[in-house]
Amino acid sequence: PPSRTTFNSGGGGVRTGRVPVGIGRKRLRIVVTGGAGFVGSHLVDKLIGRGDEVIVIDNFFTGRKENLVHLFSNPRFELIRHDVVEPILLEVDQIYHLACPASPVHYKYNPVKTIKTNVMGTLNMLGLAKRVGARFLLTSTSEVYGDPLEHPQKETYWGNVNPIGERSCYDEGKRTAETLAMDYHRGAGVEVRIARIFNTYGPRMCLDDGRVVSNFVAQTIRKLPMTVYGDGKQTRSFQYVSDLVEGLVALMENDHVGPFNLGNPGEFTMLELAEVIKEVIDPSATIEFKPNTADDPHKRKPDISKAKELLNWEPKIPLREGLPRMVSDFRNRILNEDEGKGL
Ligand code: NAD
Ligand code: UDP
Ligand code: UDP
Repeated sequence: PPSRTTFNSGGGGVRTGRVPVGIGRKRLRIVVTGGAGFVGSHLVDKLIGRGDEVIVIDNFFTGRKENLVHLFSNPRFELIRHDVVEPILLEVDQIYHLACPASPVHYKYNPVKTIKTNVMGTLNMLGLAKRVGARFLLTSTSEVYGDPLEHPQKETYWGNVNPIGERSCYDEGKRTAETLAMDYHRGAGVEVRIARIFNTYGPRMCLDDGRVVSNFVAQTIRKLPMTVYGDGKQTRSFQYVSDLVEGLVALMENDHVGPFNLGNPGEFTMLELAEVIKEVIDPSATIEFKPNTADDPHKRKPDISKAKELLNWEPKIPLREGLPRMVSDFRNRILNEDEGKGL
């Protein structure tokens, strides 16, 4: 029988009148905003794979239909071209709110649009969550810590953010999105969850998004030197995408609002990252130095003890194992691009 839908009980919980999924759980209807993007599409695969219904809302600014095409014939999957800056009416149980360009190149392209997406987009999704009693998860970012004066960063750290810099549309936008989520939680009783995601990599990242892992991997496959910005001594912590997806689902399904850091605590300088890429992808790879961008944080590393303790979550895939897993996807797309150009 087709699933009947009732959307009037508490957010994210088990509903009555649904087709059972496995033992002891009813099928949920879940919105993933930004679901055509890198992280979103992997999350959608996970939710469809466990038997739920998924509606993706995406305006395709940085997302691609190709990331979801394998689901188009699945009756539990729906894709809506829509900009979250505009209101939308849907009946759902859970909202994973990811819509927002994530790489500095993309979010600086139209900064006003980025902040509108973060503020108005998040407001609309919280309004939707409030109306239908859905549970709402915000994908915030480690950038809320800015150029941190505390290392590693704990969730209790309030951050060191430039409010008028080139990155502000993104980091201040996400800080405001967190504020909105907490105000809907306290003021309207919306069940919210806040994840602060640290640098994540894997298959389906945009080839041209300018992030360091995608740049270095694509450059190495194209036999170009890896572009190290500044002196290459700045650090980041890199998380493989399947670890993040596990963390997001654990957070949504648990009883804690957060915020929770979701990241891999392994910390690397950009020069060390280049060395690892040489080692696992191509020993003949080279590097070249380029000037750094404005307001680039000097270091970043998550303290994940809170997520370990309360969500029973920690990443499983170290950098040396994760990087090789994205190479074939990058190689295929680079090959297709080159063929498209008649090379
Ligand atoms: P992405 O750019 O691949 O995906 C973002 C998706 O949102 C795209 O599909 C894009 O088309 C869509 N989108 C953007 N603006 C929209 C709008 N106004 N309306 C509807 N759709 C819109 O980025 P990602 O790496 O998958 O990041 C997903 C989320 O995770 C973002 O919110 C990002 O801030 C957060 N995050 C990611 C990382 C990371 O390292 N990947 C780190 C911290 C936080
Ligand atoms: N909203 C939406 N879908 C809904 C409910 C609300 O897009 O199902 C939008 C609504 O248009 C508004 C925002 O969410 O812009 C905040 O809604 P809320 O009801 O909290 O505030 P109000 O409409 O009272 O300002
Ligand atoms: N970076 C680099 N070479 C590149 C792209 C980025 O050395 O080709 C550096 C960048 O200066 C920053 C770090 O890598 O210090 C991470 O940058 P990314 O854009 O991936 O993420 P974010 O700054 O948002 O952490």
